[in-house]
Amino acid sequence: MKPVIVIHGGAGAMSRSAMSADKELVYHAALRRVLEAGQSVLAQGGTAVDAVTAAVLELEECPLFNAGRGAVFTSDSTHELDASIMDGATLRTGAIANVSHIRNPVLAARKVMEASRHVFFVGEGAERFARDHGLQMVEPSYFSTPERHAQLLRVQRDTPDAAVLDHDGQALVESQPAAPVHPLDMDKKFGTVGAVALDMHGNLAAATSTGGITNKQVGRVGDAPIIGAGCYASNQTCAVSTTGTGEMYIRMVAAYDIAARMRYTGASLQAAADAVMFEELPSIGGKGGLIAVDGQGNFVMPFNTEGMYRGFARPGQEPVTEIYR
Ligand code: ASP
Repeated sequence: MKPVIVIHGGAGAMSRSAMSADKELVYHAALRRVLEAGQSVLAQGGTAVDAVTAAVLELEECPLFNAGRGAVFTSDSTHELDASIMDGATLRTGAIANVSHIRNPVLAARKVMEASRHVFFVGEGAERFARDHGLQMVEPSYFSTPERHAQLLRVQRDTPDAAVLDHDGQALVESQPAAPVHPLDMDKKFGTVGAVALDMHGNLAAATSTGGITNKQVGRVGDAPIIGAGCYASNQTCAVSTTGTGEMYIRMVAAYDIAARMRYTGASLQAAADAVMFEELPSIGGKGGLIAVDGQGNFVMPFNTEGMYRGFARPGQEPVTEIYR
């Protein structure tokens, strides 16, 4: 059994041609910081739940990724954030959706898991729960960045009826080089963030957090906070966090399907994840990626897009970060 933390910062159509070497370094450095946060928890004998919380917290704080600060905009130019967490040791879980004042949605999801008799809170009630439990609240403008707003305006101009996944706007960016956009900040990248971990006690955990998809309708909720779709963990099988076209991940119950295949058919993590990522999801047009780890510390990071911001780290070893295939 080998403890490990694995993270993603979203998948999509990012291509090498649109990314300068400097920009690439910025992303690698950010992913490394995130991994180090999770790695140090694991190295000190901390739990998988603490490791995924620490990693997702870092990702939420980093405006490069579509969770917490830097979240995408809805069609009304607002933010609606979703997050979830699950403890594979106990099957306890917590999730929140449709919030716009909680600085770190993953901490609210964790509070729900640990301090509530319920599992899933949405909207105003979720915010009240977070406030009552002393979590840091912010004005919605805290989440806004000029890049994301430019992204919304571009999507509304070019494809007004589409809700667009965060990193996938690569094509748009390339076709309109003069567009006022950070070259890494593609409109069709699926910028959700997530982490999965195995700790030295043999416990698995997963967490997922997102701003959703650009130009989504107000009230829309994706897979990220849906347990079994965008997040799942059970010590019996695996821990999973996803990124991509949330509607398809919900319809395929993607995260749980990986665990179920392992449990019911004895499939390996790799085989189960590949079947979901490359057969089931594409069969209904699902695009994106996922990360998953099993109880032995084997992990996978498959995606069916051009790239996925991702990385892994084991205690005492150099973190590894990757963007493309
Ligand atoms: N899965 C997320 C959602 O549908 C989007 C993403 O991965 O960026 O809300």
